[in-house]
Amino acid sequence: MRSNLAGPRLLLRRLREVMAEPITAQERLDKIVVLIASNVVAEVCSVYILRADGVLELYATEGLNREAVHQASLRVGQGLVGLIAAEARPLNLPNARAHPGFTYLPETGEDAYNSFLGVPILRAGRTLGVLVIQNKSHRTYLEDEVEALQTTAMIIAEMVAAGELEAIAQKKTGLDLSRPIHQTGVALAEGVGLGHVVLHEPRVVVTNLIAEDSEAESIRLDGAIGRLRLSIDDLLASGDIAASGEHREVLEAFRMFAHDRGWIRKIEEAIRNGLTAEAAVEKVQSDTRARMLRQTDPYLRERLHDLDDLAHRLIRELMGRQHGSLSSELPQDAIIVARNMGAAELLDYGRDRIRGLVLEEGGPTSHITIVARALGIPLVGQVDDIVSLADAGDAIIVDGEAGEVHLRPATDVELAYSEKVRFRARRQAQYRRLRTKPSVTKDGIDISLQMNAGLLVDLPQLAEAGAAGVGLFRTELQFMVALSFPRMKEQQAQYKQVLEAANGKPVTFRSLDIGGDKVLPYLRSIQEENPAMGWRALRLGLDRPGLLRTQIRALLTAATGKELKLMFPMVAEVQEFVHARSLVEKELSHLRKHGYDVPETIRLGVMVEVPSLLFQMDELLTQVDFISVGSNDLFQFFCAADRGNTRVADRFDTLDVGFLRALKTIVDKAREYHVPVTLCGELAGRPLQAMALLGLGYRDLSMSPASLGPVKAMLRTLDLGRLSARMLPRLEPGHPEANIREFLLRYADDTNVEL
Ligand code: PEP
Ligand code: MG
Repeated sequence: MRSNLAGPRLLLRRLREVMAEPITAQERLDKIVVLIASNVVAEVCSVYILRADGVLELYATEGLNREAVHQASLRVGQGLVGLIAAEARPLNLPNARAHPGFTYLPETGEDAYNSFLGVPILRAGRTLGVLVIQNKSHRTYLEDEVEALQTTAMIIAEMVAAGELEAIAQKKTGLDLSRPIHQTGVALAEGVGLGHVVLHEPRVVVTNLIAEDSEAESIRLDGAIGRLRLSIDDLLASGDIAASGEHREVLEAFRMFAHDRGWIRKIEEAIRNGLTAEAAVEKVQSDTRARMLRQTDPYLRERLHDLDDLAHRLIRELMGRQHGSLSSELPQDAIIVARNMGAAELLDYGRDRIRGLVLEEGGPTSHITIVARALGIPLVGQVDDIVSLADAGDAIIVDGEAGEVHLRPATDVELAYSEKVRFRARRQAQYRRLRTKPSVTKDGIDISLQMNAGLLVDLPQLAEAGAAGVGLFRTELQFMVALSFPRMKEQQAQYKQVLEAANGKPVTFRSLDIGGDKVLPYLRSIQEENPAMGWRALRLGLDRPGLLRTQIRALLTAATGKELKLMFPMVAEVQEFVHARSLVEKELSHLRKHGYDVPETIRLGVMVEVPSLLFQMDELLTQVDFISVGSNDLFQFFCAADRGNTRVADRFDTLDVGFLRALKTIVDKAREYHVPVTLCGELAGRPLQAMALLGLGYRDLSMSPASLGPVKAMLRTLDLGRLSARMLPRLEPGHPEANIREFLLRYADDTNVEL
């Protein structure tokens, strides 16, 4: 069947005239529906707009009962219009009434119509409404009619985005673009931030949709695609991929799409139909997005992100814009919203003005998470579609504790959070006051509170939070945020700076704990079925002694004239420590032989984080200078519950009697052998758990800087002798309760321990 269409170019020209007329939004919509109906020879053309309350309201119609405008409505998912909105894809039906989703709205008088074509009104992948045509005859609409409708839908989407329709909205609920949105993601770095959205990659809004000269637009497109391909090839060839913040795999995907004939042909066709080059890219991307969003295959959805990024690059190329925001333009209360970003990019923003970070990706071990934590920036990751939902300048709240994001929050939500932030600030002020107060329990027992660190940005906290030293310096963090393998000199420089910043306070370095999930992008990783129990940490260090020896040399030469404390992670048998110690001795004698200065004292220790060591305590404690319990790993191996797997991570409680007995064995044995023992896992930083650790006999805890205040507040109000006397019998065999959480809570409550 031949199309009735007078030609897409003519339609676009007419639409441009309508858009330029100085008339009201209602009049403009009314004209658009008349224009479409006559252009495609449809008896009906209607526009439905999605309201904030999830209802699609009829905003304009040609052919249906005019009285129904602003009266007739459907919920998303209800009827054919609701189905299109829900699924964000066109529906083309010769016999609409036979469709199971058909709902008849009597007020519109649409009973006489059989064929139906509806397309979603989309912007940046978001549904803003639905545009429909109908005919009495049973006809299947043709491809170019679908195209014409989609193009018109783009123009209506711009009207919605520009806020033009707000003036004619009957319900004062506001339109979709301004409604509050509450998204749940994963809490990655704690804290709560209130502020305004800064898009890491500002979305370029294409407002010039209709072309004056299609020929010229095609030429512009060719030029931009050429430049885009060259820039991708350059990046791939430069070998400095990490510097661009992207991985090779993503760039390869970019290259593939940038050469994809199908993609480019679709853009060219949209230009031939009268769109500007940038509008054509956006239109094709919108279509592809809607199609691919229905994919459940995570690989394909990932590629959609890549294709989105590529389309944005192409649009920027066409509009001559540079990407990236300048920190000088940052508002005072910036909350950065991004699909993902590199650690270095976050550091570029500068800490002062950033109140929070929201990502569509990001995981507990990503670099960005590590750096955000180190900088104390609240971060929520894995928030679906936040980049397209948020607009620059929108009010936003990041709740890094609950893993929630409130975009354009309602006043009551904002008030509740402001109160929360004020409360936190008051507590922080209280904790700061505690900084100079002694770390002593109510009954006079000294407790050493140290902090965990891993980056130079952590170190100012040593003085600010009043830590006794660095109980765990995770050296792999320098490697994880670097763009390429840090050389010996770079490692040495970092360790020197750490020791200088510590200003005489003790620092316990831990040798590289890479491998497993701590992947270095520039180090080829091998696939392992069970990376946490795989070739990681000291195992890798002993098998590749070059790596470990370089690090040991960097440490020895950084600590000249000072004390060097070094411990080894993931030791499963004493012999591994003995082997590692022999490497230190070799390096030491090498340095001495060549006349280098060496540390004044060297103390070598082991992290107790593999349960097998619990059955070798006597042998271990005669070899080491100190031990430190890595309760994060110890607990995951003790319970065989992956610490990063949310399905099982919280299944077992660290306050279960079984685990506490294990921790007690370690501290008792260490005391028997007069070997200093620290506990440096996350447990130490939680006041309730820290209370249990003190009750078990631990006197030296190392934790993240933010936990020092709360833990100190707890112990200064704790009568430790009394707690131990009450708590320890509960760990004896035969006691009916298998967990002491309730007991601890009750005890704290009864004796006014500040938790
Ligand atoms: C631990 O396992 O408890 C620990 C402190 O080390 P990491 O968290 O770096 O594995
Ligand atoms: Mg560990």
